[in-house]
Amino acid sequence: MKEKQVLIIEDEKPIAEILSYGFKKEGFAVRCAFTGGSGLMAAMEMQPDLVLLDWMLPDLSGVDVCRILTERFNIPIIMLTARSSMEDKLYGLETGADDYITKPFDLREVIARAKTILRRYEKAGAQPQAESSSLIQSGHLTISEAEWIVEKDGIRMDLTPREFELLLYLIRHPRQVFTRAQLLDQIWGYDYEGDTRTVDIHIQRLRKKLDLADSLITVFGVGYKYEPQKKN
Ligand code: CA
Repeated sequence: MKEKQVLIIEDEKPIAEILSYGFKKEGFAVRCAFTGGSGLMAAMEMQPDLVLLDWMLPDLSGVDVCRILTERFNIPIIMLTARSSMEDKLYGLETGADDYITKPFDLREVIARAKTILRRYEKAGAQPQAESSSLIQSGHLTISEAEWIVEKDGIRMDLTPREFELLLYLIRHPRQVFTRAQLLDQIWGYDYEGDTRTVDIHIQRLRKKLDLADSLITVFGVGYKYEPQKKN
């Protein structure tokens, strides 16, 4: 039987190492990621059987990572957190996590719970796999949503998860004008505590990275829209 793969997304290296040690000893294949972004990339690549996900990460919050993962994959997720209030627990579970473990944890308990969840998923016949891949073409861009890949004229471009989501959303709604607040709600979620400048910064980065100055259009006094360009 192929060994089960566990992805650990945790910025505190000693904790990641303890978990890695424990799971390896139990016969799992383990990979560690120390940021939310690299964790997402690793998840796309390896399609793990289980994700252990820290709540507090340096770049994205664990809750965001959890939401993105559960939207795209059918992978069981255990959230790890130093917080212990009931409200946080409920919030963690609402985002799609299967279980929730507070730090400091007992390694044996984490492994036991992981095994329980894996058994539950196997019973349900759920195999972790990406959704059927559909390619979106627009101008010079080709986007594979399932793989989180954007190519410009066949060359793979590096985008952060948020940049990717923002681009995809706008391309899916060509010529439709969105306010910054609408985009914040759609891409970052209602509970995001940043301000609308976040949207401006991401649009600017997308324009620069993908050479989209003519496609990502500022509608003065309103917001932004995506104007598809003919490939020349
Ligand atoms: Ca942390």
